[in-house]
Amino acid sequence: MDYDVKGHLKLVLADLPQGVRLVAISKYHPNEYIEAAYAEGQRIFGESHEQELRHKVATLPQDIRWHFIGHLQTNKVKYIAPYITMIEAVDSLKLLKEIDKQAARCGRTIDVLLELHIAEEETKYGLTPDALWQLLADGSWRELEHVRICGLMMMASYVDDMQQIRSEFRQGRELFKQVKEQFFADADYFCERSWGMSHDYKIAIEEGSTMVRIGTAIFGPRVY
Ligand SMILES: *Cc1c(COP(=O)(O)O)cnc(C)c1O
Repeated sequence: MDYDVKGHLKLVLADLPQGVRLVAISKYHPNEYIEAAYAEGQRIFGESHEQELRHKVATLPQDIRWHFIGHLQTNKVKYIAPYITMIEAVDSLKLLKEIDKQAARCGRTIDVLLELHIAEEETKYGLTPDALWQLLADGSWRELEHVRICGLMMMASYVDDMQQIRSEFRQGRELFKQVKEQFFADADYFCERSWGMSHDYKIAIEEGSTMVRIGTAIFGPRVY
């Protein structure tokens, strides 16, 4: 292997205070890179494509906890429902209901995060703050017994302006607080703020992240 995964992983881990967990984003990277991080004790990995994930699950250690971090089509939920630890980017009630249905079929409860869209970039994905309130106020999520909403996930705009990035994470943090108070005050499990990637995780941690999703800084550039 020509890339020092172990060395880079150690540098990243040294930056994480207690209470911030690392999701090592291994999409597009080969098994040997994941195995190198695994050998250092890393157990949580994140992937964004169902087929790639399926292949990795079949060929890597069974005690890896996989997070699905990409946009998930409802027709793919059934494939990951048997084993996925967390689905991070839920951005519609329709998807939430499908996860509940497939989790029930597997006799399990699946942890999810709701994906916020605050970044100024045009993207189809994620719930705007208004859409988030609407989804929660609608209340039908309360009937879904096989999903557990554990917090929020977001990506900041991909810009160099650190102030803008900080301000977006800060909006996420404020929204989390309000949502927690209004809908999850008694739910200890609603505690996760998944923000921070390779280029902005230090700011994300200062702005209340509990879970960083880091790929490039550990595994190097992805070859698509
Ligand atoms: C790819 C990806 C990451 C990791 O990005 P890096 O810049 O490589 O750290 C984090 N979150 C999501 C949703 C991603 O798709």
